[in-house]
Amino acid sequence: MNKERIVEQFRSVETSDLFARADQVRKQYCGEAVHLRGIIEFSNYCGQNCLYCGLRQGNEKVARYRMTFDEIVLNARRAVELGIPTIVLQSGEDLFYHVDDFCRMIHEIKKFNIAITLSIGERPKEDYRKLKEAGADRYLLRFETSDEKLYARLRPGHLFSERLQCLHWLKELGYQVGSGIMVGLPGQTPESIADDILLFRSLELDMIGIGPFLPHPNTPLAGDKDVKIETVLKVIALTRIITCDAHIPATTAVGTLDAQGRQKALACGANIIMPNITPMQYRKFYEIYPDKICLSEDASTCRKCVEKMILAAGRKIGIGFGHTLKK
Ligand code: SAH
Ligand code: SF4
Repeated sequence: MNKERIVEQFRSVETSDLFARADQVRKQYCGEAVHLRGIIEFSNYCGQNCLYCGLRQGNEKVARYRMTFDEIVLNARRAVELGIPTIVLQSGEDLFYHVDDFCRMIHEIKKFNIAITLSIGERPKEDYRKLKEAGADRYLLRFETSDEKLYARLRPGHLFSERLQCLHWLKELGYQVGSGIMVGLPGQTPESIADDILLFRSLELDMIGIGPFLPHPNTPLAGDKDVKIETVLKVIALTRIITCDAHIPATTAVGTLDAQGRQKALACGANIIMPNITPMQYRKFYEIYPDKICLSEDASTCRKCVEKMILAAGRKIGIGFGHTLKK
């Protein structure tokens, strides 16, 4: 599909054919398995000031927390006990944790025979190298938007080319690499979304996270309009059709925008769910966007809830680590 055709499909109000085709491609390339990735949001400190995010340094209204490495290791073990074979360790860009300590923690966690995804933002190549050698398997770093001007406006002091450089380093170092975008950013156009999808393909990403932009009241983008769920689903469906075998999560943000959002995403291309296994006492402070779902369910409840959702959709829980499907 070329750019013009993607834009045309994206603008179309008729979605049933597109969604059915995406579901077919998902079946063919990914099968019926939905893989689980347990996310541990271990620190909400952030040195960055992304205009869209509730964790931005400039938001003084959020209470900040950091989990200790012992706490993180304990919760990783809990994931194994719950039958979750991959954990995602996510945080703001928090330089408090030294990379060497991080490596020691990864060593400990790998003893549980679990896959580790890191999502801790932009770091020097040397840090990425050390973390990979310590045993990290995957890395998530969304490029957010491929519109360079919009990117520079939304992430003050940063360039799109620097984000891309990080993604290239991660690939070169042998990580399974995930990236992605927010849909509904102010100033984003159908053309730039088409460019995003084409970039997903040319980067040969192992995982692609697509979620709605949800305006946070304590950020400069407060009061912006919520995007429609169908718009996000169209981007998921087009991404499935165009990238074929990338892992695509039904994100928590999609579930926050629409109570049935994750189920709808599973039906038009998604094949991953990320139950939240952050300890209860920290969850409400990891407020990247407002009204996030699953704040009052513990890890085991979240695990059971997603299992029910997957089975009700006629799918099965993925067995094993759910590594990349790329050859
Ligand atoms: N600090 C790391 C990881 C945490 S942020 C990083 O920035 O990469 C994880 C993701 O949350 C971001 O990539 C962004 O796509 C998403 N996000 C941030 N603010 C959001 C908002 N208001 N609505 C929806 N998603 C948001
Ligand atoms: Fe920090 Fe990530 Fe939020 Fe940007 S998106 S402010 S880097 S947590």
